[in-house]
Amino acid sequence: MIDYIVKSRSMKDIRKIVNIIKKHCGFYDCLQFPIMFFWEQIIPKIFPDYRFLYVEDDELEGVEAYTDHNSKIVKVKISVYLKALNGSSRDLFTIAHEIGHLFLHDGEAMIFARTSERFPAYKSAEWQANYFAAEMLMGSHLIIDMSINEISNACNVCEKSAKIQLEHAISEREKGRV
Ligand SMILES: [Zn+2]
Repeated sequence: MIDYIVKSRSMKDIRKIVNIIKKHCGFYDCLQFPIMFFWEQIIPKIFPDYRFLYVEDDELEGVEAYTDHNSKIVKVKISVYLKALNGSSRDLFTIAHEIGHLFLHDGEAMIFARTSERFPAYKSAEWQANYFAAEMLMGSHLIIDMSINEISNACNVCEKSAKIQLEHAISEREKGRV
């Protein structure tokens, strides 16, 4: 997996950004954020210098989508885009992950991380974009007292993602951060 070392961001830092976006759009208290509406109608207006390309699946090897901040191009597999439009939870997560890269890493110095290299999660571009996507799809403040099954149904996410996000929300609350 390709990863980059970026500026440190805690879960709290990332949550703050996601919540500003959600409040701005009036979706702070909604269990389902309209990812595809946001992606198609809002993102191109916020990031007008980016190009969004839907490419044949074999053009992207090993990844579902890819954001290149230097050439300002986001490539998404056409199959991922179509499945996301149909409400596929996995593909919606992929789109939310790329939205995370745009908000978090646009214009930021990114150091390519070799796969053998070890560095803290909070400095990983991939970890940050994954947490951003999880928070976008499952707001901590909304899901913290729900079961994994309830989260999965209410937020249209897989049970694995729901479990991870619930564990994060609980550990953040225990640390007094939620
Ligand atoms: Zn990524």
